Amino acid sequence: MREDGKAAVVDPGDAAPVIAHLAREGLELTAILNTHHHGDHVGGNRALLARWPVPVFGPSRETIPGVTRTLAEGDTFTLPGIGLSLSVLDVPGHTAGHIACVGRVADGPIVFCGDTLFTGGCGRLFEGTPAQMVDSLFKLAALPVETRIFCGHEYTVANLRFALEVEPANVPLQQRRAREQAKRDRGEPTVPSTIRDEQATNPFLRIDEPSVRAAAERHAGRKLTDRVAVFAEVRAWKNAF
Ligand SMILES: [Zn+2]
Repeated sequence: MREDGKAAVVDPGDAAPVIAHLAREGLELTAILNTHHHGDHVGGNRALLARWPVPVFGPSRETIPGVTRTLAEGDTFTLPGIGLSLSVLDVPGHTAGHIACVGRVADGPIVFCGDTLFTGGCGRLFEGTPAQMVDSLFKLAALPVETRIFCGHEYTVANLRFALEVEPANVPLQQRRAREQAKRDRGEPTVPSTIRDEQATNPFLRIDEPSVRAAAERHAGRKLTDRVAVFAEVRAWKNAF
């Protein structure tokens, strides 16, 4: 994110590409935001802080190098330098203290959701339960449909390949996979997507759809009692895919 020669960085797993980008663009770093404690999201904090002793915003329930301002659901804060105001959601599941930050830029609403909701998928459950992850994902799914999703990894094409295994007859999903593959072939990112895209194509947000439930039950070889059981089955299926 940048404004008038200043930039903030979200989840710098590695400092080197951030430093190179800031140098190339002539930008000064003014803040770091971390969504959760994993090394591939915070590993660059120390090296960036050595050059720019900036405020670091991170989840209150996790331990992250250099954090100066801890955040939990209901908090609002402004990233210094770029003046972007964000509000915080607790989204446990991938990690126990994972947060998401929601804001608005000139182009519309945005969310930084780390490894909770991915474009076409969701994060693995390292520290949370399926019920927690369902709550977290549907908290994000309730954001305005035009909200753009800035997640932690470029996993879209692989995620959509799995999504088609779950819902082979989903036409918007077939179209999205072709569209996203074409972006990758051109060397372009697929992130961000929108909540609207995810509602139409992401199996983890579609656990209430009869097609997803039926696929999960076929895969499980038994009836599944509720949406959390459907979610857990689809997540386990993806883990082994
Ligand atoms: Zn992670």
